[in-house]
Amino acid sequence: MKKLLLTLGLVLSSSLIFGQTAILGDPMKPVPEKVTGVVDGNPPSDAIVLFDGTNMDAWEHVRTGEASQWHIEDGIVTVNNGTGTLVSKQSFSDIQMHIEWRPNGEILGQGQSRGNSGIFMQSLFEIQMLDSWENPTYVNGQAGSVYHQYPPLVNASNPPGEWQTYDIIFKAPNYDRDGNLESPAYITLLHNGVLVLNHVEVIGSTFPRVPEYKATCEPYELRETMDCTGKLPLLLQDHGQVVSFRNIWLRQL
Ligand code: MG
Repeated sequence: MKKLLLTLGLVLSSSLIFGQTAILGDPMKPVPEKVTGVVDGNPPSDAIVLFDGTNMDAWEHVRTGEASQWHIEDGIVTVNNGTGTLVSKQSFSDIQMHIEWRPNGEILGQGQSRGNSGIFMQSLFEIQMLDSWENPTYVNGQAGSVYHQYPPLVNASNPPGEWQTYDIIFKAPNYDRDGNLESPAYITLLHNGVLVLNHVEVIGSTFPRVPEYKATCEPYELRETMDCTGKLPLLLQDHGQVVSFRNIWLRQL
């Protein structure tokens, strides 16, 4: 009996991470909602589309709130160097995200100055994008890393100029009413379909340099403090290099 309760406790505690509950009673309910999956590269039916190839209306400049000045052409948006990092207008908690990105085909720099961008979960936790094809740098700063924290399990990068995919599962941190951290963030990442981050426990926000969790914090490049305990927007980084994007969508979990 004791063993059964322990097993049950483990099942429930692990299944509650994403709000799922094991069905131990009536196996006929609740009936899962019907969703159309990815067909011909199109987003699932319940996805929130953040870039469909036509406009960047879902995004704005992180500090000024002005419209994106990144270039859009042929269904692709490309960083317009120096015009600034973008923030999503909508805020999110736990998500599944898909984003396709392409470092410049012409190699103009090296290390962190070659095809650098990144997607920040909740404006705080950077999943690094970098041209990591034969481009050595510190391992927790290459493509597929949680920047300054976890290197990817393998380097699944494509050559520069080729499209790459990130499929991200993000679990947001939780805070209690007093602003104390109850549970940290977790990230799973598939890079070009290959698992490179396996439910890693995020140590804290990417910046400042020493990772930290703070209920009142200053998201990357925002330069003002805010309540960081609830839903927060995504950031798409302008690091001064030419990186393109297409087909950006997410599902709220
Ligand atoms: Mg970056």
